[in-house]
Amino acid sequence: MNIILFGPPGAGKGTQAKYLVKKLNGFQISTGDILREEIKKDTEIGRKIINNMNEGKFVSDEIVNNLLKKYVFDQNKKEKLIFDGYPRSLSQAKNLDLLLNGSNQKIDHIFFLNVNKETIIERIKKRKIIEKRSDDDLDTILKRYDTYIETTRPVLDYYSKNSNFHEIDGSMEINQITSKIETFLNV
Ligand code: AMP
Repeated sequence: MNIILFGPPGAGKGTQAKYLVKKLNGFQISTGDILREEIKKDTEIGRKIINNMNEGKFVSDEIVNNLLKKYVFDQNKKEKLIFDGYPRSLSQAKNLDLLLNGSNQKIDHIFFLNVNKETIIERIKKRKIIEKRSDDDLDTILKRYDTYIETTRPVLDYYSKNSNFHEIDGSMEINQITSKIETFLNV
């Protein structure tokens, strides 16, 4: 079963993805984590993307799509993909369809964790204290939220007519969201 967790930064996608990894024996594909790892390892890609990441701007499709490919085509991960932070634009959604078609897979469920701006700001401020992410300061949060509204949210139109699309109130407690997801997954 392949799943997309969709929503604004701070919606709780990563938290739910980690839970689903355990529950379904799946693999979390967090493009944010993959990119942060490149920076940590100080790779050539890492050096190219560090400024964009710190400023809360998107990393180019070329880089993200290339990094993503090997996970989608990994036989050990097949049908166990839990996407967290990808796709983030219409072109990425189309690219994901191409990769999935090319590897004989499909998306089984899309969960949209819907959270308002005020809740996101509060959550990310708390996350900043715990995770110390350099892109979690207020200015950057606001920029990331604007990018979400302009570029990512429109992707909902691409998915929302599918019967496997589920909108969940992402302002609920973590365990309430988890239990909603479980109901849709029938697990
Ligand atoms: P996240 O951990 O999902 O909040 O992502 C952190 C940052 O990584 C984003 O603000 C972007 O700079 C970059 N990033 C993560 N996923 C993507 C993506 N799918 N496309 C472009 N940039 C991304």
